[in-house]
Amino acid sequence: MNFQTTVVGYPRVGVGRPYKQALERFWSGKLDETGFRAAINELRQDRLAIQAQRLDLVPVGDFSLYDHVLDTALMLGAVPARFGKVDAHNLQGYFAMARGRDGLPALEMTKWFDTNYHYLVPEIPERWELQANLVLEQVRFAQNLVGTKARPVLLGPWTFLRLARLAGAELTKHLQQLTPIYAQIVRELNDCDLAFIQCDEPALVGDVTEEEWQAFAACYRELSKYGKIVVQTYYGDVTPWYRELCRLPIHGLGLDLVQGHANWAAIQYHGFPQDKILVAGVVNGRNVWRSDLADLHAKITGLSEFVAPDRLILSSSCSLLHLPETVTAERHLPVAVSSGLAFAQERLAELELLAQALREGIASVQTRWDAALASRQQWLDGVGRIVPAVRERSAGLGAETPARLAYAERVPLQQAKLNLPLLPTTTIGSFPQTAALRKARAEAKRDPNGYAATIQAEIAHVIGLQEQWGIDVLVHGEPERNDMVQFFAEHLAGYVATQEGWVQSYGSRCVRPPVIAGDVYRTAALSVAETTYAQSLTECPVKGMLTGPVTMLQWSFVRDDLPRSVVAVQIGLALRDEVADLEAAGINIIQIDEPAFREGLPLRRNDWQNYLDWAVRAFRIATSEAKPSTQIHTHMCYSDFNDIIAAIAALDADVISIEDARSAGSLLADLEGRYTQQIGPGVYDIHSPNIPTVEQLVARMQQLLNYLPATQLWINPDCGLKTRTYAEVAAALQAMVTATKQVRNQI
Ligand code: GLN
Ligand code: ZN
Repeated sequence: MNFQTTVVGYPRVGVGRPYKQALERFWSGKLDETGFRAAINELRQDRLAIQAQRLDLVPVGDFSLYDHVLDTALMLGAVPARFGKVDAHNLQGYFAMARGRDGLPALEMTKWFDTNYHYLVPEIPERWELQANLVLEQVRFAQNLVGTKARPVLLGPWTFLRLARLAGAELTKHLQQLTPIYAQIVRELNDCDLAFIQCDEPALVGDVTEEEWQAFAACYRELSKYGKIVVQTYYGDVTPWYRELCRLPIHGLGLDLVQGHANWAAIQYHGFPQDKILVAGVVNGRNVWRSDLADLHAKITGLSEFVAPDRLILSSSCSLLHLPETVTAERHLPVAVSSGLAFAQERLAELELLAQALREGIASVQTRWDAALASRQQWLDGVGRIVPAVRERSAGLGAETPARLAYAERVPLQQAKLNLPLLPTTTIGSFPQTAALRKARAEAKRDPNGYAATIQAEIAHVIGLQEQWGIDVLVHGEPERNDMVQFFAEHLAGYVATQEGWVQSYGSRCVRPPVIAGDVYRTAALSVAETTYAQSLTECPVKGMLTGPVTMLQWSFVRDDLPRSVVAVQIGLALRDEVADLEAAGINIIQIDEPAFREGLPLRRNDWQNYLDWAVRAFRIATSEAKPSTQIHTHMCYSDFNDIIAAIAALDADVISIEDARSAGSLLADLEGRYTQQIGPGVYDIHSPNIPTVEQLVARMQQLLNYLPATQLWINPDCGLKTRTYAEVAAALQAMVTATKQVRNQI
């Protein structure tokens, strides 16, 4: 058949998050294993049925009870010895690997490529072995429901090993061991009469050495002997390897034609092999905007010159895992925005419509076609998408990156105002988010005055505690913020919040990213009332807290009609206004958090500098108009900075606090001589409930002083305190202040 349709993968969570409920009820013992399996099977059936209704081919094997990388590890026998024997059907063992148990640490968790999904990092076993063909089991389950539409998805062996952090010769060695095991899996799947087997190899869009490519090619030359394999890539283009990929004896190639836009040109320039199918990722799997169907229709018609329609399968650019389930669950979005949105179910409808238009002509679907185009146009024409004042202001900045007075000249001006001791103590911003606070927030609409009073009381409480403990630079505690991005998104023009737009982050944990639908600007102050209220209660300096442009982008769905760099400038300008208002209200220290600065890095190193340039510029747009005597702080999480130190220095913040408590000073060795501004490498790990002792903290500070002069060093925890209890925070911060005083006396 011509122009068949499929997707690379589908969301697991479902409307109302039944996935989360089933998992958490099972973990807490409210649901027994039989009940849990029944709930999950129902959800699986629902996922399959929704897809089968619209698509010709349905991916099977992408669903997981926690994480598909963990499933693959289990399938291949990669069970660390500390968990004992865990087979694929032992739920206790499975969840122990995912979440830890009885003091046994879980597998390490980290970000999946450049997305906000997190996977569990496989630990390499002594010996690989096929424990159970889990994908085959899922295929049998699915075939009962959707028949021959079912087609399997495997996480490819090469990417799997890259995710386990192997490279070079090690990667080649383990890949050779895994190849016969994958051959067995493929052979068993091939007996099921399937259209093809999707092997996900997204790591191909990153940096790949010649040696690593050779290992990849050898593996797929072998696997192709046992079944019809489609190598599926996503999150970027494969142009450096395109011609080599075309020469492999695989059944087909899956390409991302959205984020990997350069793949279009590769096909046109080099052609496409006659013996393969092309799975063309034409609709966006990770952003929420309706596709431009007219444009896609024209482009795909053009592709027919290179690929016959019976070998062309229309698909998503990557798994739809990153999208919420459906726009129809949103009841409160402005029409000007919702008309432009497409979540997972709407993507399926787009593919169905597009395929039909290509097969039978647009006239055969005219009404639906016109409606889809008109709906998208309604968003394009919507009020707020283009705000002339915002455009003019951005244009007026010119191309340069604005600068403040030189750091060395700012320091004495700031010190004259702040008069801080050596080794100043501070925190990262948030204090515990108690159940009482969350309850008050939930009722804020009904009782706004009650809510405001609760927030004020909380601020007063937090200020009182910090004064009592002897912290030098105080914070208001961020009690008014549900989340550091969501809060600002709710208060800036251009952003909208969804009601049900949940996306899996890891395990049962879901996030609801806000949507940037129009030009971003500030209509009213964001943090001035809370910050100045806090300042009115104390003589100590209170630090204002804002979220930086990159983080505001990374944790949102960003409009796709403007480059991210342009949206970042708009956010930078909105923050600039806030900085000015905070200063005018007497706040002398302002922190702009950029915890997502590193995760914004592109997958290929060649693309890094361009990103870093605009990310730094956006930050400096926010800060450059601050008075030289105003001390600008920033905060980042994760310590692997060695390769971007120059960019972090270029932010030109006066003080940076960073998470380094777990990495024993490794960052600092790299910073020596390359970073001159002040820095607070967290002195203890807030992610653990352990309370640091005074001795441990003193030792840590002495270690830091081996690398940095005392004049450069700040003392703080390594991240915000919102997930901790007040008892933990009180004990830890008091110990921190005591230790700091001891160390000061020794200097
Ligand atoms: N200021 C924020 C807080 O303290 C920073 C959070 C973060 O780094 N992710 O919670
Ligand atoms: Zn942090």
